[in-house]
Amino acid sequence: MDKNYYDILGVSKTASQDEIKSAYKKLAFKYHPDHNPGDEAAADKFKEINEAYQVLGDEKKRAQYDNPTQSFFGGEGGGFSGFGGFSGFGEGGGSIFDNIFNFFGGGTSKAQGRDIQVRVTLSFEEAAFGTAKEVAVTRTEPCSACGGTGAKNGTEFTKCSNCNGSGKVRFVQNTPYGQMASERVCPKCGGKGKIIKESCPKCMGKAYVRANTKLKLTFPPLMDNGQVVSVRGEGDKVSGGVPGDLIVAITVTPHKLFTRKGADLYMTYPITVIQALIGDKVKVPALKGDPVSMSIPEGTLSTTTIKLKGAGVDLGRRKGDMYVKLIVDMPKSLSREQKDKIKELGEMFKDSQFESVRSFNRK
Ligand SMILES: [Zn+2]
Ligand SMILES: [Zn+2]
Repeated sequence: MDKNYYDILGVSKTASQDEIKSAYKKLAFKYHPDHNPGDEAAADKFKEINEAYQVLGDEKKRAQYDNPTQSFFGGEGGGFSGFGGFSGFGEGGGSIFDNIFNFFGGGTSKAQGRDIQVRVTLSFEEAAFGTAKEVAVTRTEPCSACGGTGAKNGTEFTKCSNCNGSGKVRFVQNTPYGQMASERVCPKCGGKGKIIKESCPKCMGKAYVRANTKLKLTFPPLMDNGQVVSVRGEGDKVSGGVPGDLIVAITVTPHKLFTRKGADLYMTYPITVIQALIGDKVKVPALKGDPVSMSIPEGTLSTTTIKLKGAGVDLGRRKGDMYVKLIVDMPKSLSREQKDKIKELGEMFKDSQFESVRSFNRK
């Protein structure tokens, strides 16, 4: 399966991060499961778009994708296994505020909240059919008590004396072409033009708090173990800036009987040597709903696979198939009487009835 992430997002190989982001936003909005209820094709597309953006939206991963010298992709289907940077799941540690404040110092770009990661475990059925799930997220948000200012009641400020409230300071630089005056962000107030007189007691003047939030996330059908999806804007929030994304790493619980590839189900089904010899009609379990009828033809060899059309994951208009691998079971020991009867029966067989044995002996 060779998916071209550039084609999926409809952008050129040389597209800028902004172009990629905007293409992703448009497509994600169009194909979001909430806007296309019950539409599996849209759900698939949505999944694909997310997967593509997961890679192309990240410079590092994009470079790796463009130049795949390292093994970046896991098994089939483009699921990520060796995903860099996922070791630090859980708490972001103490540097979270530093990270946010770094942006104010720069003064050039808009504040950007950090991406946060969560792991979500889906049952085999949830992953196959899609589900909505409440996910607990701990993230940084602007403090509500001070309106994200860090000052008590959001009002206890004084004008910054360093920049006289403008947030900018002029400075003169000596260059080979003479002196040049330019402006930069006031280092004392970080460009705000004001400084905190009395700190907000709730956030201790940090302007941000750690908040526990529950988000209801919609997972489209056919999610795979190890898949990573991103939910835009649900990461750390910053006042007056762009929130980070929530990166969701999905674990799918294995099923007792089935494995799955896309919408197709796979199962190993034991039959007796008698069923293998003379054939049978049986009912095999389905992932959902009633058991499915299956005919075992006479003379079935062990490891024969029978395809049950349409018995895979049922997504309404689209149905996967079920592949049943038959394993022939033999009695562990036979009684005297059974042995005699089988010997007697054996004499009734002709050599020509055993094709493989016959052709081997001819060689
Ligand atoms: Zn506060
Ligand atoms: Zn200032």
